[in-house]
Amino acid sequence: MVDEVVAGMQAAKAVFETLKSGIGFFQSAVDALPEGEDRTKAEEALKLATEQAEAAKVVLAKEIGFPICKCEFPGVPMLLKDYDKFGQEVFECPECEREYPPKTDPDELTMRIS
Ligand SMILES: [Zn+2]
Repeated sequence: MVDEVVAGMQAAKAVFETLKSGIGFFQSAVDALPEGEDRTKAEEALKLATEQAEAAKVVLAKEIGFPICKCEFPGVPMLLKDYDKFGQEVFECPECEREYPPKTDPDELTMRIS
């Protein structure tokens, strides 16, 4: 099971690397176009493709078990940072550094209870 998940993640990473280089190639082609209506249309198509690739990445990350931080749209996959004292995974958002599961401050918890 773990092997299948790892293999799936590697395959997904390869797909996204390919997609990213494809978008990079398209960007170069768009940059080479003269200013005008065609270039504007190509830039819009490129922007849409980039947004869709980003959304697909978030959906895939969620499918394979990454928590998603909602600090940005369509979401940011949180990355494994450490393990807590119970051996549970602790994730961190690479954009806003929020942690999942959220840190519980013992003092704050006491205040809420009292
Ligand atoms: Zn975040």
